[in-house]
Amino acid sequence: MKRLVLPGEVLGTIEEYIAGKGAYEDGGEICAQLVGLAIFKNDRKEALVEPLVKEVAVPKKGNFAIGQVEGVKEDLANVRILQLEGKRRLTKPFLAVLHVSQCGRGFVKSIGDAIGIGDFIRARVLTDWPPYQLSIAERSCGVIYALCPFCGKALVQYRGGLKCLDCGKLFKRKVAPSYVIKPPREKRP
Ligand SMILES: [Zn+2]
Repeated sequence: MKRLVLPGEVLGTIEEYIAGKGAYEDGGEICAQLVGLAIFKNDRKEALVEPLVKEVAVPKKGNFAIGQVEGVKEDLANVRILQLEGKRRLTKPFLAVLHVSQCGRGFVKSIGDAIGIGDFIRARVLTDWPPYQLSIAERSCGVIYALCPFCGKALVQYRGGLKCLDCGKLFKRKVAPSYVIKPPREKRP
């Protein structure tokens, strides 16, 4: 039998149960410690509360994040963090910002030379609080997947940037070594 309980809600008496995980004893009564589902284990005479909200993974300074660029304004890009490497799945996306000064060592004049709207990037998280600041300056970071803004086809890695094999257009990007689409091998004559 399971029912939703709120903190402080009485689950039973100490004559009936002992307080299990998520429950506590108070003046002869067993009470819920958190919001969750009350579980009564009659075989063990135990009342416990299974938390409804599981612990969530939040970005931390030093983490590597996978995110998607949502917008670019002057020297700043808005990025939605979708996943943290090696962490549990996020329950919601986190908003982050990427400044042009964090796009590489000196060579990036315009943020549009490093990333584009819709691009998926691998980035380092720089701060512990939102909006999280990101950096793609280190070698392992940068764009990992992008679509051609003209024809929607996936771009391939090409001479330090990206290329659309469909329409032939070239794009300046700070491409990560883990970019998912490698150029096709040149055909030998
Ligand atoms: Zn194209």
